[in-house]
Amino acid sequence: MRRRDFLKLSASTTLALASLGLETKEGFLKPCSTLAAAPKSLPGSLGAKEIPSVCEMCFWRCPIVAKIKNGKLVKIEGNPKSPANGKRVCARGNSGVQLLYDPDRLKYPLKRTGERGEGKWAKISWKEALDEIAFNMDKIRKKYGPHSLAFFDHGASAEFMREIFQALGTENYSSEPAFYQCVGPVAVAYLTTMGYVVSGTRQYIDMANAKAMLLVGTHIGENVHVSHVREFIQGLSKGAKLVVVDPRFSTAANKADIYLPIRPGTDTALLLAWINYVIENKLYDEPFVPRNCTGFNELKSAVKKYTFEWAAPICDLKIEDMKAAIELLAKARPNTAIHPGRHSTWYGRGDVGRHHCLSILASLFGSIGAPGGIYFPTPIKKGHAHCVACKGENEVEEPDVSLRDKYPFIEALPGTPTAEIIKATISGKPYPIKLWGINGVNIIQTIPNPYETIKAIKNLDFIFCEEMMPGETAIWSDIILPGATYLERYDSVYTYDLLTPYVTVRQPVTEPLFEVKTPYWIAKELAKRLNLDCFRCGNEKELVEEELKQMGLSLEKLNAEGGLLKFKANPYRKPDELTMPTDTGKILLSVPDFAEEDLDAVPKFVATPAPPKGFARLIYGRSPVHTFSRTMNNLWLNHEWPENHAWINDEVAAKLKIQDGETIILENEHGKRSNPIKAKVTPGIRPDCIYMAHGFGCKSKHLTKAFKKGASDQYLITTYENDPFMGASSHRTSFVRIVKKDVVKDIPDLRPLPKELPRFELNKA
Ligand code: SF4
Repeated sequence: MRRRDFLKLSASTTLALASLGLETKEGFLKPCSTLAAAPKSLPGSLGAKEIPSVCEMCFWRCPIVAKIKNGKLVKIEGNPKSPANGKRVCARGNSGVQLLYDPDRLKYPLKRTGERGEGKWAKISWKEALDEIAFNMDKIRKKYGPHSLAFFDHGASAEFMREIFQALGTENYSSEPAFYQCVGPVAVAYLTTMGYVVSGTRQYIDMANAKAMLLVGTHIGENVHVSHVREFIQGLSKGAKLVVVDPRFSTAANKADIYLPIRPGTDTALLLAWINYVIENKLYDEPFVPRNCTGFNELKSAVKKYTFEWAAPICDLKIEDMKAAIELLAKARPNTAIHPGRHSTWYGRGDVGRHHCLSILASLFGSIGAPGGIYFPTPIKKGHAHCVACKGENEVEEPDVSLRDKYPFIEALPGTPTAEIIKATISGKPYPIKLWGINGVNIIQTIPNPYETIKAIKNLDFIFCEEMMPGETAIWSDIILPGATYLERYDSVYTYDLLTPYVTVRQPVTEPLFEVKTPYWIAKELAKRLNLDCFRCGNEKELVEEELKQMGLSLEKLNAEGGLLKFKANPYRKPDELTMPTDTGKILLSVPDFAEEDLDAVPKFVATPAPPKGFARLIYGRSPVHTFSRTMNNLWLNHEWPENHAWINDEVAAKLKIQDGETIILENEHGKRSNPIKAKVTPGIRPDCIYMAHGFGCKSKHLTKAFKKGASDQYLITTYENDPFMGASSHRTSFVRIVKKDVVKDIPDLRPLPKELPRFELNKA
């Protein structure tokens, strides 16, 4: 496939997918119950009124039912009609009640009165706030050009504000930082090789019906998305075997048949040795591969050198364990769930290759379209609200030098890499970036090297944010707009193209509290001031009604069905009827287009620098009761899990005389130090890494419950590189040592390092 074909393919992916499944309302299943037609009493509900809606305590968007009593939200449960989660919600889903009523919420527009970042504010009116933002957007755009405006966003609340930035002609909207800090590499790998994004907002991996599963650094159970965890557990309960590859004995590893405590940074070496072993020993699906894949011969000869003998010292694993694991996975084919992973921005170069390896393994096992393997989404045709389409005087101009230009596989991807926006904001090259808008994302706790992010913020002429809570990024803003939570607004119709597809709608369970406004209202008012005719529906309810009308639905009808309608699914394919949504209709084991860009057509092992002497690699993950840094101030969640711990190997701890529960500080390769954090001394982590859950160590005193609790991994990640395919930023390229009572303690070297793994050079830090 040539690069231009990749681009063509990418642009038409949605179209290609639409032909894979149902498009119309044919296939509606009979409604099961009516939830919202009339309030009713359930045992324990004390006669609460029930409103179906959609959770946004994380991005998974589980259907929920909110219970309202005397005008107050008293409880949130899963929507029993939902095939994904039923009546289940996770701890965060339950705790939406405490987001709504959090006394620390942003309640009215604020204007900075002290120095930027000082945290001094004055209450202002909505008119003053929006006039000032519009004035600055217009002034800066006219003075420096459209690309001097940049926008960072995450989540449904941001889509309208993004329309405005796009209409003003900038390409520097990083929608979303989550993409360039999370799913970018895995998305590129699968979009290129299979023609669709197997792991993005949704993950099309059929764990519930798998006979064996492979997780490489995927922390299901700590990274909680209700239906995903549920499918994982369903698979295990039905007897699926599990192989987990992880330097840390995670919750998932605890359930593994074979656990491989791999040296961090060497996963691709293991995967390449497995691919070679599968080919050499003819463990692959012989009819499936020649019929449905291209590039087998190139793959075979490229991976020949990757033997178990070569991989074992690199990965620090035993040959017999590596062999047993791949044979277990091969035995279950084609019903083998090779999990594509999600958070894939680990080491920069090599991240796409690692996920390319995972897609190759799944293909060799013939798992594509098979029950228990990678399945196909069943798209539901979603109505388009024509009342959202910006029309203004502004032509979109291509910049002379685009910040996207150096990344060859970015055209189909959203926005501009965050790292490029930040670098240009600091340097003013290739052109100045002078205004940032931020919506729904705490970029200081999201993007590597927050010191650099803050430096960029200080260089801006103007910065504003729309937020619900006064987190780190909000306090660096000049104007803060208080946005409605997901419990106070409508959002666009949601369609779920999963094993049981369904459609549902987020709707308010209460009027917006305090003086907060909905994202639609805010965007509409701002657009008016900028002479943009963007939002022609009166309000977001009208917009949702228009979308539903085009689907032959209405809010009334949907609510009469309990707020959710199911569709028939079409997730599986017979191997001899498989047509992939790629240009050739086949899976690409080798990607010639990558080679054209001087990238690897077949993945190669690229050594990422090992920790310098005296340091361990910093790795991180999720707490099961928190979402990024967003929920640390939630009363109930903070009560459950107020702070994170630094996992330290027990042998290392014994040598350094560190006790379990003792307070330490971590110092990184640039001498940056963390907040105090308690040590968790455990054999469940390798001696060459230290782990902590992400999102803690809040530095905003306005989040009174979260302030200074635990330590932030982000403030320790100051070395990063950008993925050469699409510019994502690496997050596992920083190192730490321990400081105890002001004494710096070097991490002892307890694992021999083979010559293939050069160390990070401290003098280059
Ligand atoms: S996984 Fe939990 S937080 Fe995320 S949408 Fe579902 S219930 Fe809400």
